[in-house]
Amino acid sequence: MQRYPFPKTELHCHLDGAILPQTLFELATERGLPLPGNAKNPEELTPFVVYGPDCVSVNTYLERFELPTQILQDKEALERCAYELVVRLHDLGHIYTDIRFAPQLHTRRGMTQREAIEAVRAGIDRGLEETSHEIVIGLIVCCMCVGTADLNHEANLETARLAVEYHDKSVVQAMDLAGAEGFCHLTDFADLFEIANKGGCPITCHAGDSQEPVEIRTAIEVFGSKRIGHGHHIINDPQLIEEAKERGVTLEICPTSNVQCLTQPSYEAHPIKRLFDMGLHVTVNTDNPVIAGVTVEDEYDHLKESLGFTDKELVRMNLYAIDVAFCSEEEKARLREKFVPYL
Ligand SMILES: [Zn+2]
Repeated sequence: MQRYPFPKTELHCHLDGAILPQTLFELATERGLPLPGNAKNPEELTPFVVYGPDCVSVNTYLERFELPTQILQDKEALERCAYELVVRLHDLGHIYTDIRFAPQLHTRRGMTQREAIEAVRAGIDRGLEETSHEIVIGLIVCCMCVGTADLNHEANLETARLAVEYHDKSVVQAMDLAGAEGFCHLTDFADLFEIANKGGCPITCHAGDSQEPVEIRTAIEVFGSKRIGHGHHIINDPQLIEEAKERGVTLEICPTSNVQCLTQPSYEAHPIKRLFDMGLHVTVNTDNPVIAGVTVEDEYDHLKESLGFTDKELVRMNLYAIDVAFCSEEEKARLREKFVPYL
């Protein structure tokens, strides 16, 4: 049941944080994998998957990804989860969403990054067909920061090269860098973005979530990224805010994820409204809808209740999202039309 009459968009949604406990339970059972707490049904599994009061640090939050990662090690599992997510987003009233995942996290049992990308694409395509293409989906492949850049450099190079190759084939729409922040500087990953840029593959980049604006500056100035994953710490650098505005940079803000991961103390303290009022293009996203236990509409509720956003401003942010969506200009024009009655 949708509570907001206008269509929804989302730029920042991780596949492995978007799998329902029911699906995880079934996939794990089929594969004979042990479940945390010896869960005997999806209900018993839920507390191990969804954010709860035991999440007292970023680490306890990140532990929630271990089970999905263990399970998503074959093509069938990836295909099913991507398919189910597309159908669910459509049912929630989304008309555009970028789904992202890191192929290198799915090679533990012999699947290749290439196979992982093809499996997710197949699931997305099945979902698009089932929903009569009423939703547009962009697929983003993530390179990962798991520590210093040399730790998984080969795997990241492979992801970047595949991003370019599959972007040419319209299988993948963009490349991202995700994972932990703060082990090293983003500049250490410059070669990956150089591959994407040279190969004509669009980019976005996680930056400035737990770390300071200097990392956002790298993503904008060195990588040339027009989209920043999170980026809310830009609030500490007024000069960079102006530069981001001039360059047409848009932030993929994930309010609940920031509060749960303790990178912002509360919804009330979140700078999204201040940034919006300064004229910086910000958008609303869930990051990990199942793990965070939120939909985009839940995020809207939080933004209205805690920060005083109006419905018109929420519509405006959806239009900002379409401006930087990874789809064709024709498609963007068609998507924008759907918001006209709500402006
Ligand atoms: Zn993210």
